[in-house]
Amino acid sequence: MTVIVNGYIVNEFNEPTRLNIRLVDGKISEIGAEVKPIAGEEVIDATDLIVAPGFIDVHMHLREPGFEQKETISSGTMAAAHGGFTTICAMPNTNPVPDSAARLEALHQLISEDSHIRVLPYAAITKALDANASVEQLVDFDELVASDIFAFSDDGVGVQSAGTMYQAMAEAARVNKAIVAHCEDNSLILGGSMHDGRRAAQLGVKGIPSVCESVQIARDVLLAEATGAHYHVCHVSTVESVRVIRDAKAAGIHVTCEVCPHHLISDENDITANTGNWKMNPPLRATRDRQALITGLMDGTIDCISTDHAPHCEHEKCGKMEDSAFGIVGSETAFAQLYTHFVKTKIFTLKQLLDWMSQAVADTFSLPYGTLAVGASADIVLIDLNKQKTIDATAFLSLGKNTPYTGQTCYGWPVRTLYNGKTVWQEN
Ligand SMILES: [Zn+2]
Repeated sequence: MTVIVNGYIVNEFNEPTRLNIRLVDGKISEIGAEVKPIAGEEVIDATDLIVAPGFIDVHMHLREPGFEQKETISSGTMAAAHGGFTTICAMPNTNPVPDSAARLEALHQLISEDSHIRVLPYAAITKALDANASVEQLVDFDELVASDIFAFSDDGVGVQSAGTMYQAMAEAARVNKAIVAHCEDNSLILGGSMHDGRRAAQLGVKGIPSVCESVQIARDVLLAEATGAHYHVCHVSTVESVRVIRDAKAAGIHVTCEVCPHHLISDENDITANTGNWKMNPPLRATRDRQALITGLMDGTIDCISTDHAPHCEHEKCGKMEDSAFGIVGSETAFAQLYTHFVKTKIFTLKQLLDWMSQAVADTFSLPYGTLAVGASADIVLIDLNKQKTIDATAFLSLGKNTPYTGQTCYGWPVRTLYNGKTVWQEN
């Protein structure tokens, strides 16, 4: 038994309320000011700390199997715990791709051996994520849904054919799982490495136009309407994407979406130089895109926040953008960056930010996590809102050090993460 005392839970009115929490057998058994330590139980003193539901990240790249030099299930889940996450969904662009029951079984085995928190794996939509195949071949949805998967995604590449996506959504609707889509039309990438805008022109780098993303979302919301599937859009980055999703929601289509911290806090104007750590997919867009993402989150068009944590080796990110891999790490800095940029500046409330990283994610996918309630899984993060720290990639627990935010000072750092009632990470 464990009791967390003297901490503050943020209530629905954004008021910090001093409540103690007792954890028994991995579950929350009591919450209240009157809950007092019992002789012999573990006491966690959370004086001056916020006690919040462990964060949920539906978009993380663990890289194992196949790319263990970039990240492993062990290092990636420790990095997530360091960032306050207790549940993460692992994207399928690994080698092999989880596109069959046998591969899912092997993946579940690795997860059970090596993960430090809850890992819910995605299954692929198409065999081997082969977006360049002349005919994309669908996975066996029945076989995979029996393999305990979170949802279906081809993240890393877009599903190119409307016909394939139509069939995939019909199958996903039939087995009652979401299609989680990385939206990118290959014929509109145009060899680009960053957003096709003023900064790309200044730096002389080829640009990826916004329609590369938004045109596929526009296609897919109509396919979702036609099939009745739950269609979730990954890492929304453009003003047009937000508009299409807002209109689709208004039309009653079951579409949801996520936004990443880097697209909320940065835009093309923040790119200091043509260096690999500024390269991500989708790219940092224009100021008006960033503003649309903030508005979309505030008005409910965007449902939740995910990190798109994408670790790479140093040699894959140390050159110019044209020569580098897409993606940055984000698990370990997501909350502090968003807290510093949006809560300290009073744009978001603390309650909103906590919800977008926990309860709202759970609600989007009907997951039984992300809440502090009696009977819920004891997945908890303790956060020191006053703690000030400068981002230092060498201190990351992730094998990936690829962030453009080194040297930025942020407030609001997780200091202890409990998963299933057990401490999986704590400061020092
Ligand atoms: Zn993606």
